[in-house]
Amino acid sequence: MSNLLERIQSVVAAHGDRIAHVGSHGSITYRELWARAQTLALALANHAPGPVMVIGHKEPFMLVGFLGSVLSGRAYIPVDTSLPAARVERIQATAEPSAMLTMADVETLTNHWPATGEQQVRAMGGEDPFYIIFTSGSTGDPKGVVITHDCLVAFVDWMLSEQGLRPGAEVFLNQAPFSFDLSVMDLYLSLVTGGTLVSLTKDDIADSRALFAKLRTSDITVWVSTPSFAQMCLVERSFDAAMLPGMRRFLFCGEALAHKTAAGLASRFPEAQVWNTYGPTEATVATTSVLVDAALLTAHDPLPIGYERPGSTVVIRRPDGSPADDGERGEIIILGPNVSPGYLARPDLTSAAFFSEDGRRGYRTGDRGYAKGGLLFFEGRMDFQVKVRGHRIELGDVEAHVREVPGVVDAVVLPVERRGVVESLAAFVVMREHPGDGEFAASQSLRTTLATRIPDYMLPRRVEFLESFPITPNGKADRKALAARLA
Ligand code: AMP
Repeated sequence: MSNLLERIQSVVAAHGDRIAHVGSHGSITYRELWARAQTLALALANHAPGPVMVIGHKEPFMLVGFLGSVLSGRAYIPVDTSLPAARVERIQATAEPSAMLTMADVETLTNHWPATGEQQVRAMGGEDPFYIIFTSGSTGDPKGVVITHDCLVAFVDWMLSEQGLRPGAEVFLNQAPFSFDLSVMDLYLSLVTGGTLVSLTKDDIADSRALFAKLRTSDITVWVSTPSFAQMCLVERSFDAAMLPGMRRFLFCGEALAHKTAAGLASRFPEAQVWNTYGPTEATVATTSVLVDAALLTAHDPLPIGYERPGSTVVIRRPDGSPADDGERGEIIILGPNVSPGYLARPDLTSAAFFSEDGRRGYRTGDRGYAKGGLLFFEGRMDFQVKVRGHRIELGDVEAHVREVPGVVDAVVLPVERRGVVESLAAFVVMREHPGDGEFAASQSLRTTLATRIPDYMLPRRVEFLESFPITPNGKADRKALAARLA
């Protein structure tokens, strides 16, 4: 497989003056990005081996941090500044990083970047770990998915062959924080094609006036976001081809693409293509894809998640491991070069979810689905993982942290759904002493404590205090009975 860093380097050589990234705190050209990354790689060369945590939000120096790490032969771990310190410490404890770089560190270490000149660095390739993305883990510890150089190349090459991206002519929207693997789609498709990546910051997204003003002047041609974000944009009536005249394609991943979202985009952007892609972080962003055209919209609601990428195999398996028949429901299993070798420093979790078959890596997704004539359909989870506006959350992760709050005896966290879509989380809590009339204050205080330990998007919106949980015949908290209280 051809080396990804060499490919980015040839983009730099051909188009050094082109803007690589428009982020918070300004923009950066390919030349400056590469020169700073090389300077950082040299600075990192003195460090011990091991991954580099790069901590920031949407700054161009994030990209310097990523490329500098891989140019020094080290994988990077993207960490968003919105994560509470306690969560970052847990990641640090698992990752044992060789360096932790804030944006100020990246700036200081690369301030004397040479305007020209090539430096020799030990870059990486093959099955070297390229990045490690931490995602929710069911016991309260985030788990780090290791993605190798070749996993990433498998993903990028598939997208390039399918999406007809024009070299040097695309402007990509970056909506997801770099700590989520959806961002890998826009970041690397942009870097290998000499595109410009335009990031939306957390603040942009929180302020709809600023958001649409920014979109209007962005010249975006390739939209990469969660479906929820596009649905939110569709609420604005002027969000259409007049606002974004260059828009050519919408690429979605990470959660179900609602029929009404795809249909809404098709009518507002008649010249643009809408694609649904599906896959877990453990199989490098996406493994299946489908063009959602008029025929597909007419034939399917809910929409399918697509066809497997060439070179990977997606099979539906019954609980006993045998392959399901066409149309029969089962677990979605992915095999192929885009499957991760496993979770960082967690052989127990790795062997529970990953396997190898005929020399290929395989991953049990925990997703339920079926295939009909090669077209795949997603039907939800087989476990306690949920998606809230595209964020992957293990309910057990939140429960473990609620249980650690002083005074809490037990906790059950459940999804609050509306029309089949998880909108938020609810926590049922048994305290050593029931707060009685002080429930409101107690729930505020619980959320405040939790906010120091878990990301905002994992906070239960609703908290209910109970004297005890309803119990199932085999002595466990009766989650169904609790869910009925949410209806
Ligand atoms: P993440 O690792 O955060 O990308 O989350 C992966 C999970 O998101 C998958 O295992 C699915 O449960 C869900 N998912 C990803 N893409 C889709 C899609 N297109 N439709 C429905 N669910 C999806």
